[in-house]
Amino acid sequence: MSKQTLKTTDSKPKKAMLVGVFTNTSTLDQENQMNELEGLVLTLGVNIVDRIIQYKKRVDVKYFIGKGKLKSIYEAALESRCTYIIFNNDISPSQIKNIQNFFKKDLIVMDRTGVILDIFNKHAQTKEAKTQVKLAQLEYFLPRLTRQWTHLERQMGGVGTRGGPGETQIEIDRRLIRNQIIKLKKDLNKIAKSRLNQNKNRKNIFKVSLVGYTNAGKSSIMNSIASSDNYVKDELFATLDTSTKKITIDKNNSFLLSDTVGFIRNLPDNLVASFRSTLGEIEHSDLLLKVVDVTSDELEIHIDTINSVLNHLKIDNKDFLIVFNKVDKLKDMIIIEKLKNAYENSIFVSAKSKLNIDTLIDDIETKIKEENIQINISVSYDQGKIINDIYNNCNIIRKDEKNESINFLVNGNKKIINKILSQIKK
Ligand code: GDP
Ligand code: MG
Repeated sequence: MSKQTLKTTDSKPKKAMLVGVFTNTSTLDQENQMNELEGLVLTLGVNIVDRIIQYKKRVDVKYFIGKGKLKSIYEAALESRCTYIIFNNDISPSQIKNIQNFFKKDLIVMDRTGVILDIFNKHAQTKEAKTQVKLAQLEYFLPRLTRQWTHLERQMGGVGTRGGPGETQIEIDRRLIRNQIIKLKKDLNKIAKSRLNQNKNRKNIFKVSLVGYTNAGKSSIMNSIASSDNYVKDELFATLDTSTKKITIDKNNSFLLSDTVGFIRNLPDNLVASFRSTLGEIEHSDLLLKVVDVTSDELEIHIDTINSVLNHLKIDNKDFLIVFNKVDKLKDMIIIEKLKNAYENSIFVSAKSKLNIDTLIDDIETKIKEENIQINISVSYDQGKIINDIYNNCNIIRKDEKNESINFLVNGNKKIINKILSQIKK
């Protein structure tokens, strides 16, 4: 859309310099944060020439980083033919504008949120996700427009590009963006309504969602459970959309399994809000599988991130299992004992070597059974549809055919049985 995105269409990869401004965090944390940013940027097909780290008690009001430092970054970046300067931090709109004006058209400045939005944009697949990303991007860009980004209208379809008398290019751009935002919001409303209908049809089946830090192996676990051909790739955020599959264990036990967007540390609040409806799948789940890469040095942070995003979405009261994945990569098995003690509801698997996946499915089955009840149902013969529903959805333990009705002793999902009971005519 505008110049301020990491374009990867050119044949020659663009180059970026990373900048991290830290107040007083540990060196290890800095490393990890910069590694993560590097991973994100590489995912977009942009190469990294250098990392610059600066300590600052207080950030500069005008330029975020000191002006002297900014100048040396500018010169070094031009020297190494960079296109982007990418900050690990989130920078205020006015600071971004000041930095961009300082760089003129020689370099493009981006912050962490901008990068995450680009990644979301690259991976969005459903109409809903695409619309959400576009909206989030425009809301992000609106307060950050500078004179450097002219002719936005071309990317925006050229609607109403001719401004009134005296309207500057920036004003035209702002007006176009505002109109687009209104339209996208309307579109999203429509999509949300049709999603609601879709969810109605899924009401009666046990729902499981894979949540977790990006790259933990959610899609791989989905694949090994479903043996499906979901999108598996060594990229951060390889799945943005939820994709859902029905898994049948046996006649009486099946569930829906949804793969969801990857979480990431410090996902800005407004982004979490933007993706609320995509994450809505989680809201309707009966069980969450919190997938964690067991080989990560930062697995505790990852678990905290998962919990804080869930908390933010007000869905932290769900039943869950912690699924520690990639045990095939572990050199020291002692960590498994430690984690077992620290996290009660945990299971250790490898999606890649299909290790313990059967146990995971057994655990899901146990959870499904916890949702089951055993009950007597009596139905008169003229209610054929209900008798059919009982045969199709319940496990029949005993059947007693009387003159006018059948008595069943059944075992099955609470929700399904309640629905059947509510339809029986006395
Ligand atoms: P997602 O972002 O959480 O959906 O993660 P993916 O399923 O896309 O996996 C991210 C990367 O980790 C891919 O390169 C996978 O091949 C790799 N991966 C996933 N599960 C395992 C595993 O059990 N063992 C190993 N060694 N690698 C895995
Ligand atoms: Mg994935």
